[in-house]
Amino acid sequence: MMALDDSRRSEERFQQMLSKLKSLDFRITPQRLAVLRILAASEDHPTAEQIFEKVKTEFPTTSLATIYKTIALLKGLNEVLELGFPDGSNRYDGNKPFPHPHVICTRCRKIMDPELMSLDELKDEISEKTGFRIQHHRLDFFGVCQECQKAT
Ligand code: ZN
Ligand code: MN
Repeated sequence: MMALDDSRRSEERFQQMLSKLKSLDFRITPQRLAVLRILAASEDHPTAEQIFEKVKTEFPTTSLATIYKTIALLKGLNEVLELGFPDGSNRYDGNKPFPHPHVICTRCRKIMDPELMSLDELKDEISEKTGFRIQHHRLDFFGVCQECQKAT
């Protein structure tokens, strides 16, 4: 059942991204469609290189620059969330393009989306204490994932 829900949700995300591009008259190339599909389906926050490797299996002439351009386009339309890291190993979430907390494994670089109950409370508390009107956030938790804990 889980897999069915996941595939329905990724199909929905794919259609959302596609109709955004179409409504703004962006050219829809087969390579772009492939990037959209990968971003809509992936839960593991891929790098541009990982997306490139997948697209290449279907479209061998694709360049990494094409992948970056498509990602930049989607980012500009708020259809993909970029998780930037100082070492340049940026990761992408096309599933949830809006700001949300992440938990990041410092050993294998796995990134997951924890569902937090307390996020709205945290935002309210920050507003209350600073007077800021909060627009978005970047919330990363670093640690060692379950698999990596077992491996030690
Ligand atoms: Zn790990
Ligand atoms: Mn995410």
